[in-house]
Amino acid sequence: MNAKNWRACVKDGVAISKPVYASQIAIYQAYMEPVVPGISEAPALFTAINKDTAELYHELVPLNAALAQRMSDRAVRILQATDAGDLLPRIAQSRDFYECRFCSYADRCWGERCLGNAPVERFSRERAEPWA
Ligand code: SF4
Repeated sequence: MNAKNWRACVKDGVAISKPVYASQIAIYQAYMEPVVPGISEAPALFTAINKDTAELYHELVPLNAALAQRMSDRAVRILQATDAGDLLPRIAQSRDFYECRFCSYADRCWGERCLGNAPVERFSRERAEPWA
């Protein structure tokens, strides 16, 4: 990771500085037990490299079962909505949002406006659907 993100990770730990990574770790620990026996009992070893200096940061991450359950529940809600044909709100107000610029589904996602996929205000659950 870049130096700024790496320093934040060293300062605050992975759960606070990189919650997406922490969620990934928790999911692996919680659901890979059948193929990696003991994975849920031993802490994960998270390693981050500072791309500018090659410094390494290591952190032992014990299973956060509540986080794993929350992320799993979220995934189930997304899959159920998809199965039902519901379009979920976009993460951003515009296609220029940095995550959308790297998303493989951007063409499809931003290709047409459909009821249901209006962007949400970040940190808000309100949909803006002025055309509805
Ligand atoms: S382009 Fe990708 S990241 Fe952006 S809102 Fe659509 S699906 Fe989400």
